[in-house]
Amino acid sequence: MIPYGRQSIDEDDITVVVDTLKSSWLTQGPAVPAFEKSLTQFCGAEHAVAVNSATSALHLACLALGVQKNDIVWTSPNSFVASANCAIYCGATVDFVDIESDTGNISVNALDAKLAQAKKQGTLPKALIPVHFAGQSCNMKAIATLAKKYNFYVIEDASHAIGGKYCERPVGSCQYSDITVFSFHPVKIITTMEGGAALTNNDELARQMQLMRSHGVTANQEEMTEEPHGPWYYQQVQLGFNYRMNDVEAALGKSQLVKLEQFVKQRNELASFYNDAFKRQDKISPLKVMPDCYSSYHLYVIRGTGLSSDSHKAAIETLREKGIFAHVHYIPIHLQPFYQTLGFKKGDYPHAEQYYERAITLPLYPSLTKEEAQYVVDTTVDIVNRLSR
Ligand SMILES: *Cc1c(COP(=O)(O)O)cnc(C)c1O
Repeated sequence: MIPYGRQSIDEDDITVVVDTLKSSWLTQGPAVPAFEKSLTQFCGAEHAVAVNSATSALHLACLALGVQKNDIVWTSPNSFVASANCAIYCGATVDFVDIESDTGNISVNALDAKLAQAKKQGTLPKALIPVHFAGQSCNMKAIATLAKKYNFYVIEDASHAIGGKYCERPVGSCQYSDITVFSFHPVKIITTMEGGAALTNNDELARQMQLMRSHGVTANQEEMTEEPHGPWYYQQVQLGFNYRMNDVEAALGKSQLVKLEQFVKQRNELASFYNDAFKRQDKISPLKVMPDCYSSYHLYVIRGTGLSSDSHKAAIETLREKGIFAHVHYIPIHLQPFYQTLGFKKGDYPHAEQYYERAITLPLYPSLTKEEAQYVVDTTVDIVNRLSR
């Protein structure tokens, strides 16, 4: 079976992991700050806070921005559930902004219209979480302009997008946002096994997230309410969590980061190969990449424009029978049973729903061979054309 995504681990990665296992530190040693420093250098941001998952990073980002009960947070329905759940962890209410089908990203027009409406109704969001779908940045300039106009925070969910660029700058620079979150799950661009990070240019937000990732406990005298009892002293000053990344994961992350540009280049080469192959297919429409974006191509998605929801299902099943583990990203979050219990229903975000009924994620990862990619093309063209109207 050809998977839709796969990690790339080489001998250098294995060596640093083994070396770290043999060192004095398995957790909270030098590897985590070293990885964080590499992340800030790569992305051009002031601070990076490494944690045990992007889900934790999203939660910390919401907390650091003060998201709480009676607040509203908006995100994209075309994402993994974690993009929305983080607001609910804080007791806030979640709402969604529909997508543009050509990129799978939040529609700036829909956002603009929804904000104007929310202003009238007194339901403006405290924060927006745009998701850089498949590795392509959202239109961050337009989003930042609206954030200023309507006074909300912006957390970029860049779980798909490390190694990508927006207007020549690395995703993660936080030029147009308060915080940017990455995931290092093995299906993503680089991996620490489980892991994530939150980047920011704001000292206070970074300090908050560092504190909250480890129980709200500090050993920094300046953050304490009284003189230390002695050199062993620490204080819990807030209610935090254990969201820490360990040294083994961080060492792997730093080693992976060295290869990030190469991984993204290989992903782009394969994506170009697919794009060329599908150019003359009028029933197959790949997602579009905007001129001001360099996608990290976490996912390669096509839309079967002649498919119905039944033939879409048949296409995925047939691809899997032929050894191609095609997938669908994403089931719209608002249609998940949990979100339906909150009052969301079919029809709420029609573009995300229509998109879901036609989207097919094809295999894309650095070690996918040209022969495998050609097999994916031939098989996909055959199946989709056969099932299309
Ligand atoms: C993978 C993913 C997450 C969650 O990442 P974890 O590191 O597994 O917690 C969040 N948002 C998006 C868009 C993702 O793809």
